[in-house]
Amino acid sequence: MIATGSTTERAIWNFLTVKGLSPAGVAGLMGNLYAESGLKPQNLQNSFEKKLGYTDDSYTAAVDSGQYTNFVHDSAGYGLAQWTFWSRKEALLNYAKKTGASIGDLVMQLDFLIQELKGYTAVWEVLRTARTVQEASNIVLTKYERPADMSSAVKARRAAYGQDFYDFYTDKEVTIMSNSSLVTYQNITKHKNSPRNHAIDTITIHCIVGQWTAKQGCDFFATTDRDCSANYVVGLDGSIGLSVDEADRSWCSSNSANDNRAVTIEVASDTTHPYAVTEAAFAALLDLVTDICQRNGIKKLIWSDKKEDRVNHLNGCNMTVHRDYAAKSCPGDYLYERHGAIAAEVNRRLGAAAPAPAPVEYPATPFTVRVLIDDLNIRTGAGMANAVKGQTGKGTFTIVEVQNGWGKLKSGAGWIYLENQSYCTIVGDAQPDPADVLAKELAERVKGSGLDPADVLARVKKILGVS
Ligand SMILES: [Zn+2]
Repeated sequence: MIATGSTTERAIWNFLTVKGLSPAGVAGLMGNLYAESGLKPQNLQNSFEKKLGYTDDSYTAAVDSGQYTNFVHDSAGYGLAQWTFWSRKEALLNYAKKTGASIGDLVMQLDFLIQELKGYTAVWEVLRTARTVQEASNIVLTKYERPADMSSAVKARRAAYGQDFYDFYTDKEVTIMSNSSLVTYQNITKHKNSPRNHAIDTITIHCIVGQWTAKQGCDFFATTDRDCSANYVVGLDGSIGLSVDEADRSWCSSNSANDNRAVTIEVASDTTHPYAVTEAAFAALLDLVTDICQRNGIKKLIWSDKKEDRVNHLNGCNMTVHRDYAAKSCPGDYLYERHGAIAAEVNRRLGAAAPAPAPVEYPATPFTVRVLIDDLNIRTGAGMANAVKGQTGKGTFTIVEVQNGWGKLKSGAGWIYLENQSYCTIVGDAQPDPADVLAKELAERVKGSGLDPADVLARVKKILGVS
């Protein structure tokens, strides 16, 4: 048995599923990643640990801090896919820098992996459509990972790993009935029905009417005589508490059918209209709802301003509110009015783990850019494939031509990458020469004075001591 149901494993399964891989495709890929790295994103190839004098953790930290500078060229396999070849390690490192993530960050590596796989069109197509783990596993092995040993024994072993993940994660009881790993406190209440009688397909957000921590909320539900509870409590400090397992039905929304299909979340709030919540609570709520959707296969949150849509789940609506089922203001106007925004942000996170860089608009050339880092590469042409000729250092530079997000330096030194705004920002129209600006100012004043320009010029020169 390979699959353990660990948080990392689940995160990988969910991530790849959301990216559109078929279950057999996800499993076949995961079997190979398991063979490469044990699914550890910080994994440094074992034989290099001694050679380089690093552990997985210290290598990762040294690359992140910039203390270790030979990441690209040390030939050591690293990460989920054990990236080894220098150009792939360079691209991984650039991607980590671009996204501001650690080189050992799971989601960054998964994003990068997907980006790479999409470049292997045949592999990507099989992963999207695979019906058997074996076909997915084989193509990843032979067309993507390409280790030295691709014998039938290796094929069989990797496919067996994949099959194990497949069996584990396509078993609905195992995948659906789990709780969020974001939980910071747990006190399970008796106020519930176990198990729920419907698959989870709805989110119901409530306001708890008190600026409580998750612990206070969970402890309340665990000790009160009142017939009330919620699956989760989000505290004013961003703490997240579990009061009723997701597998069970909470007593939260005054509606049995709703609570059987919904994950209910009580959020710490003010005690008076509009029942505002803290920033920390709101941020934690977004994280929690995203996690619930990912683990339960809710691909998109759909909110509607119409009660009819909500209570009948019309047009895909899968967010409901307590006020629809009882004479209550819950979730309070503060949260009610933010339901559309919550759906939008969660959907962005669900679909968007690949952070497409915002399209950059460039002013007409020439314009200037400010380089924010010491070592922005100057390349011989507009593209990563071109050779590095040097580096700019920090400062302001004039761009005279733009191609595919690369800018040609006025100095003629070469091209720099413009689209990573943590490296380089657009300042705007080229700064005119300050001497021209001053000369123009002086000229305007002389023109307006009625004096003889030649005479004034001669006197200015005399004052400045220039001939
Ligand atoms: Zn409520």
